[in-house]
Amino acid sequence: MTLDIVQIPVLNDNYVYLLRDTASGATAVVDPAVPEPVLAEIERRGWGLNFILNTHHHPDHVGGNLVLREATGCAIIGPRAEAQRIPGIATQLGDGDSFSLGDSKALVFDVPGHTAGHIAYWFSAAEALFCGDTLFALGCGRLFEGSPAQMWASLSKLAALPDATRVYCAHEYTESNARFAVTVEPGNAALLARHEAIKALRADGRSTVPSTLGEERATNPFLRPMSPNLRATLGLEGADDVAVFAETRKRKDSFRG
Ligand SMILES: [Zn+2]
Repeated sequence: MTLDIVQIPVLNDNYVYLLRDTASGATAVVDPAVPEPVLAEIERRGWGLNFILNTHHHPDHVGGNLVLREATGCAIIGPRAEAQRIPGIATQLGDGDSFSLGDSKALVFDVPGHTAGHIAYWFSAAEALFCGDTLFALGCGRLFEGSPAQMWASLSKLAALPDATRVYCAHEYTESNARFAVTVEPGNAALLARHEAIKALRADGRSTVPSTLGEERATNPFLRPMSPNLRATLGLEGADDVAVFAETRKRKDSFRG
């Protein structure tokens, strides 16, 4: 069984993902910010559209819902905990639920913090995680509706997935995330090397997404509150992981670089 994944860059820095289960031909789109590029891509490929999978209610994730449903008849799937804010939602999902795209099955996680009801979709056989604005390459989402403790618990859930898991996040924020990351964990050689690789990719206009969860665990400061180097930089050697995570997030919020 195979899951084809097509990355569609839209707006300034959003990524929309088109998924197709090759055995059945069932197709879904994750977080369609806008409808037109999605319609153009499925038309170009001769695909239909069966489902929209939303991770959270922000307009740059659900903006294409109703036009796509009107054009294709697709069903809209989204987070139960913010269902009233998901346009056209037909099926509500939460922690431990699963979703089947033909033979490709996703497990759903509640990952509150960026928004209160944010969910993520993990296609385990395809080793693909669609995590919206929760985990980014070298970053994490801003805490608009949740506490640091909630977000750290959410990120910890995702960090427990296998190293080979590909992290399909919803924005190309990696280069600015990297500029911040090297200021808080300057002694991490893997991070410094990744920063150079990211600069080269972006200089070529190429995507840095997906990364792998193994890379994120090794280099993303928001998954590394246990790092002695990060703790020393923040002056939080004896603090608990939530306090280190909270301070890292706070510094990123005011980082200008
Ligand atoms: Zn968002």
